[in-house]
Amino acid sequence: MSATASMIECPECGASFEASGLEAGEIIVCPECGVELEILTVNPVTVGLAPEEGEDWGE
Ligand SMILES: [Zn+2]
Repeated sequence: MSATASMIECPECGASFEASGLEAGEIIVCPECGVELEILTVNPVTVGLAPEEGEDWGE
């Protein structure tokens, strides 16, 4: 596995930034607006807004 950096576009504020070493299910924080983003897939990289805390995770 290589540590290729991927461009991520924040769905909240539209900012683009690089991140590397991503894994599906990982939570990252947008450096622009601070929203938590969940890595959905890594090839290609897609992200979605992370579930808000306070929910019962259950698993
Ligand atoms: Zn953002």
